[in-house]
Amino acid sequence: MPEYKYLIIGGGMTADAAVKGIRVVDAEGSLGLIGAEKDPPYDRPPLTKGLWKGKDFESIWRGTQDESVELHLGSRVEQIDPEAGTVTDEKGTEYSYEKLLLATGGTPRRLPFGGDSVIYYRRVEDYRRLQVLAQSEATFAVIGGGFIGSEITAALAMNERDVAMIFPESGVGALQFPAELSTFLNQYYEEHGVTVVPGATVEAIEGGHGHVHVVTDAGVLHVDAVVAGIGIQPNTELAEASGLEVEDGVVVQPTLQTSDPNIYAAGDVARFYNPALDRKMRVEHEDNANTMGEMAGRSMAGETISYDHLPYFYSDLFELGYEAVGDLDPELEIVSDWAEPFKKGLVYYLKDGRVRGVLLWDVWGKVDQARTLIADSGPFTEADLIGRIAAE
Ligand SMILES: Cc1cc2nc3c(=O)[nH]c(=O)nc-3n(C[C@H](O)[C@H](O)[C@H](O)COP(=O)(O)OP(=O)(O)OC[C@H]3O[C@@H](n4cnc5c(N)ncnc54)[C@H](O)[C@@H]3O)c2cc1C
Repeated sequence: MPEYKYLIIGGGMTADAAVKGIRVVDAEGSLGLIGAEKDPPYDRPPLTKGLWKGKDFESIWRGTQDESVELHLGSRVEQIDPEAGTVTDEKGTEYSYEKLLLATGGTPRRLPFGGDSVIYYRRVEDYRRLQVLAQSEATFAVIGGGFIGSEITAALAMNERDVAMIFPESGVGALQFPAELSTFLNQYYEEHGVTVVPGATVEAIEGGHGHVHVVTDAGVLHVDAVVAGIGIQPNTELAEASGLEVEDGVVVQPTLQTSDPNIYAAGDVARFYNPALDRKMRVEHEDNANTMGEMAGRSMAGETISYDHLPYFYSDLFELGYEAVGDLDPELEIVSDWAEPFKKGLVYYLKDGRVRGVLLWDVWGKVDQARTLIADSGPFTEADLIGRIAAE
């Protein structure tokens, strides 16, 4: 049986960051990683962005294997025995651990129809499949108006593919952005050649690759291929079956230990308390994967840590791009401070006079200022915020 001082389940960005975090503190302790994908850890964000704009494919790899770690790839863990300190994979191989990390991330939500004719876009494998299709004259429907849907639509359109984007909300990114910004984005996407179908729910997907009929409550679209980005479910099954505390994510302490002190969790799968927002959260973004992964590794290796980082996130939509931090909930009170409407500026999200979130729209390098504002108990009025962070 392979025996490890540190064992990581998952082969994503969080897992890679944890490997590096462990190695900062402990250069020698035996370290194993079991990942279900056949590929070693890689950066996911370029799969919807850089790789479609000419970025070198080989640049996505994170070089995890250079850290003196044994990688067991293409192997899914099916069971944890916390009493014995062992895990078992789908082939029946048992591994023992002293400290275990759950970095199992999330799995795309699926529609109840359409089967494999829909590409649920998350893995490099999905990129490879879509990239082949995009080199042909194929036409596409993208389902979902959130991060993945808006980015992959832009990527395909920038590669001169014919794309329709379908989503139930009134505008692109409507679950994050104020209504006027999201309505502007509909028009902006149309100007970039996309057929935007807002307010539509997909009810069935018929046919197969090359002849797919996407049936919505607003009509039927005939395309060659369908891509979906309709959110993820955290992969908490192993934690639940092992009796760990789970609440839309594996619950962790500031030390990133779960309810079993020998088992840690980090990244998209973990639910943690953030002091600045004074609430528990689960974050599905790169900064959290990298920072929390590294901190989990350090914690596993014996460093005293307290994870109180407020992660930021970012996205690119054609020529537009943004960074953001905190709660981007359009139901909150909104203060907009545009230098140029919908092209450059700031949007503040407030509750009871406190800033809960900041959207930095084509404003770069100001995330720390936004964090400081969120940590400040205020109270803030609109007049306090206009010009507070310079849009330059
Ligand atoms: C296409 C794409 C673009 C993105 N762009 C951005 C962006 O622009 N900005 C941003 O901030 N964030 C972005 N993100 C989000 C960011 O990439 C994620 O937050 C991050 O990848 C999460 O990493 P993770 O390792 O926690 O989880 P995952 O990436 O989900 O990795 C988990 C890994 O664990 C494996 N696994 C699961 N269960 C088991 C098991 N039982 N046994 C073995 N292995 C298992 C999975 O196969 C997977 O490889 C993007 C995500 C995607 C998919």
